[in-house]
Amino acid sequence: MSFVQIQCTRCKTMFRDRAGRLQDGYSRQCPCCEVVLFFADDAQHPFIKRAMRSARQARKEQREAEAIRIAAPPEPRAAPRSRSSSTGRARVHGRSE
Ligand SMILES: [Zn+2]
Repeated sequence: MSFVQIQCTRCKTMFRDRAGRLQDGYSRQCPCCEVVLFFADDAQHPFIKRAMRSARQARKEQREAEAIRIAAPPEPRAAPRSRSSSTGRARVHGRSE
């Protein structure tokens, strides 16, 4: 999981948080001044905006990395095919002449 840098809007301290958590509606305390920072897609503060943007970018890169892994050809599954032999139909009947 990738981390993004967040800058506190009050004390300007830089700290890091997981990109996966940094989404609209997320909030966390600054480790330094303990102010609660709110993260929203429509945030006005440039520090919050920047953090949201880099989190989005980090998540996008991670999705792409996963997509590449998924796109790799899957292992072929050897399905055991049970062929019921049709030896029982060899009998000829109805020879009445
Ligand atoms: Zn702070």
